[in-house]
Amino acid sequence: MNARLRSAGLDDIAEKVESRQRLSFEEGQRLFEAPDLLAVGWLANRVRERIHEGRTYFNYKLALEATNVCEASCLFCSFARLKEGMPGARTLSVEQVLDKLRARADQPLTEIHLVNGLHPDLPFSYYTDLLSGMKRVRPGIHLKCFTAVEIAFFAEHYGKTDRQVLEELREAGLDSLPGGGAEIFAPRVRGKISYDKCDGARYLSVHRTAHGLGMRTNVTMLYGHIETMDERVDHLLQVRALQDETRGFQAFIPLAFHPDNNQMRKLPPPSATDTLRVLAVSRLLLDNVDHIKAYWISCGVEVAQTALWFGADDLDGTVQEETIYHMAGSKTPTALSTADIEQLIRDAGREPLERDTLYNVVRVPQLLTA
Ligand code: SF4
Repeated sequence: MNARLRSAGLDDIAEKVESRQRLSFEEGQRLFEAPDLLAVGWLANRVRERIHEGRTYFNYKLALEATNVCEASCLFCSFARLKEGMPGARTLSVEQVLDKLRARADQPLTEIHLVNGLHPDLPFSYYTDLLSGMKRVRPGIHLKCFTAVEIAFFAEHYGKTDRQVLEELREAGLDSLPGGGAEIFAPRVRGKISYDKCDGARYLSVHRTAHGLGMRTNVTMLYGHIETMDERVDHLLQVRALQDETRGFQAFIPLAFHPDNNQMRKLPPPSATDTLRVLAVSRLLLDNVDHIKAYWISCGVEVAQTALWFGADDLDGTVQEETIYHMAGSKTPTALSTADIEQLIRDAGREPLERDTLYNVVRVPQLLTA
């Protein structure tokens, strides 16, 4: 591989990777621009195997959205409806959400992942009732709910600080935050594609506050639309800088832009090679984030499998009720069983491990023999 890295012009970066030195902004640019994707992937895989060897994580989770009514107008969003009563608008009562948990009483779920639109007319108690109700129905389950964008919205809408919102939600049962809503931090991009929700600095500030309260969170990047390579690198380095400060991020999750049924439908989706490169460069630049997730709903099952050799060590989980990506044209199934996920990890030549939200191993799947 040395000759290949040399001919790809990446031998100096390879030396830094081998000696565990931090990569710079300029080196991030070069990794995005290097024509030899396999060389970039090989480097990312070196780091992935140094940290995790072949171990590949997934969890038994249920993804829910309680409301898609949202006062924001993100151009890439196919999920939101501006007002109640519009076609496709949907707000579940607290009991309807709890019924979804009761219907899965036999499933060994370890996580509920709940995100929503920014509903202008619900009381704050709706969200605390959701949390306390979910903990009542499934005691011990981990509640990973509300993006930083939702937390910032709650603070402004209900006249609280971010810290007060997080503390009150935690009191009701919140355990951690998902990473959605990061999009691209660069104001040029954010001002165009999601101009009327919290900016990148506020997103990061909410995560900083959550980390300060002892909560773990994830962080994302929506790629493959109007962002430049420099703006991707900038995004990744802003994540790295906050992680240096707090050590609160668990996983970085690149999210592929999907163009169906939204205002950016004229753009093509990112290619499989772009997805693999984003995952690989993320692994290389984010030297302080433990996990890089190939979210199979977002990038497709086959690409997610391949990504396990391009830096990714996590495939997310069973999901079960995904709508956000499917309303934007995702062709994946909406659910995979744990057996499906284990098999596709094994088929990729990796070792499946079922984790909980905090990456404690809850089950080591055994190979079934005939
Ligand atoms: S991405 Fe989130 S904040 Fe933006 S319109 Fe969709 S639901 Fe609302």
